[in-house]
Amino acid sequence: MPIISTHELVKTYSLGEVKVRALRGISIEIQAGEFLSVIGPSGSGKSTFMHILGCLDRPTSGQYVLEGKDVSKLSKNELAAIRNRQIGFVFQGFNLLTRTSALDNVELPLLYDGSGMKGAERRQRSQDALKEVGLADRANHHPNQMSGGQQQRVAIARALINDPSIVLADEPTGNLDSRTSIEVMEIFQALNAERGITILLITHEQAIAEYASRIVGFRDGRIVADHQTETRRIARDEMTALPPDVDVEPGHQPSETTNIGA
Ligand code: ADP
Ligand code: MG
Repeated sequence: MPIISTHELVKTYSLGEVKVRALRGISIEIQAGEFLSVIGPSGSGKSTFMHILGCLDRPTSGQYVLEGKDVSKLSKNELAAIRNRQIGFVFQGFNLLTRTSALDNVELPLLYDGSGMKGAERRQRSQDALKEVGLADRANHHPNQMSGGQQQRVAIARALINDPSIVLADEPTGNLDSRTSIEVMEIFQALNAERGITILLITHEQAIAEYASRIVGFRDGRIVADHQTETRRIARDEMTALPPDVDVEPGHQPSETTNIGA
């Protein structure tokens, strides 16, 4: 049974008289443990698709079956419950609270999931999640004291806090330089390979899409390509080929000369 299955998903936004047909019939099956990239130009419906898969929005018509359950017609509250239990989100702009420590940012979803988890357990889980993304020593830093790559790792830790079976990432490397993008893709590949988390990653960059094992092309609200990656990029291998990084104070990005000979 696929973890995600959609049949003829349609999403039409109404802006007064104007109708925007963002999705025009998306049918796809995604198996548990897949790492899939959705690639397509701006406006092709990628984010709309992710919002529906993530139970943030409902389709205008069509069917969405998540882990065997038809969720297309559930109420907003029912969708929120499923979302909190099963899905983690990562966004291009990190979406962190800037004046709040990394630890508190990661813990936040646990406060709203209705599980009634005790404070000490929440702390422990948040610490563990930060450790998993290599930021155990930055727990008390605020996002505005961190590099973009570190902020995105905090956001990934937050996405993991509810132990989701699916992680949805919308242009997660869109604000990152290429080196940091590889580091973030290494985390996604590890989560997929080592924890079996199903990952759906949206990008408009072919080079980023190639870290996935399956690439689905979107255009004008339709799927126009769907194939296994021919030569998959392995972030861990690429990282070892990079020159060593220089750890810097927040706000002082290393210049090119800093890196030379480091
Ligand atoms: P992508 O993520 O591929 O750039 P989107 O899913 O964001 O594409 O958008 C698909 C189309 O739907 C675009 O034409 C966009 O302008 C439109 N759209 C997206 N969200 C809304 C909204 N909330 N209201 C109206 N139109 C929207
Ligand atoms: Mg988008």
